[in-house]
Amino acid sequence: MFIKNYSEFVCILPQFMNPLPDVENPRSKIWSASFRLDQDVSHLFPYINATLDEALYYEKPAHVRFLLNGYRCFLYPDSAAVHFFESKAAAKDFIAGFIDFLNGVEDQKKNIKPNYDQIKPIPIIDILKILPKTNCRKCGYLTCMAFAAAIMKGKAAADKCPGLALPISENAVYPVFDDTGNLVNSVSLQINTSKLKNQIQKQHEQILKLEAALRTDQQNEKTMDSPRPSKNTDFGLTNREMEVLKLIAQGYTNNEISGMLFISPHTVKSHMIHIFNKLGVNDRTQAAVLATQSEII
Ligand code: SF4
Repeated sequence: MFIKNYSEFVCILPQFMNPLPDVENPRSKIWSASFRLDQDVSHLFPYINATLDEALYYEKPAHVRFLLNGYRCFLYPDSAAVHFFESKAAAKDFIAGFIDFLNGVEDQKKNIKPNYDQIKPIPIIDILKILPKTNCRKCGYLTCMAFAAAIMKGKAAADKCPGLALPISENAVYPVFDDTGNLVNSVSLQINTSKLKNQIQKQHEQILKLEAALRTDQQNEKTMDSPRPSKNTDFGLTNREMEVLKLIAQGYTNNEISGMLFISPHTVKSHMIHIFNKLGVNDRTQAAVLATQSEII
């Protein structure tokens, strides 16, 4: 077994928590533990970096951060810090499993392709460039400089500053502008983009709902449109029937139409029966309306 034991176990209430821990609640997870390992484990960092999806391997100071069984672990060459436990006893229980995990990585090294990608700290001055520099304290720090230092050390998340511009990509690349508003640089920071992704997801769902509603409306419109006669359809009417139909639409009686077209009333009646049949209507009013709508007269 590579690591056999640990020492210098300390379990404390962290000072930098914001909001303050709920010390009244006995089940509140508020304890942070630190301890020293009996071996230097720095050679395992690239293997842990390759094994755990959320692992972050830092160059300075050399350490690796990861989540193990829901606990946030900071592993240094021969020591570790883990947050947050309900009690000191829970912290001690976890450490036994933590050491088993490290011994397991040591045993499996030959089966793991190490990942040497490291996170390089961003200079404070570069972080300060993207902050509003108003010292408004809304982030919980007295000055923007203090907040920038906390970001650099990984103790604060960049999105805690409400005045910070939104990142311009999912990798949290922030734009840096000069005094005249021109984009002059960009700075990459780690931020928790889950909130942003949730907002985007909700917007996307709303857009899908609206599109579905729009499609339904269009479908309904088509359905309502379909019984309407197509424009300029002549319904197979003869020239004479068209003449009679025009006169019907103008409100002339059968006798008047008979006189105007020099045909007998009986013939007018016969034309009207044919017109009604071809148009699929029952009376002269319906015939006039349909003829107007379909623009055949
Ligand atoms: S909230 Fe932003 S602008 Fe205000 S002090 Fe913090 S970093 Fe500076």
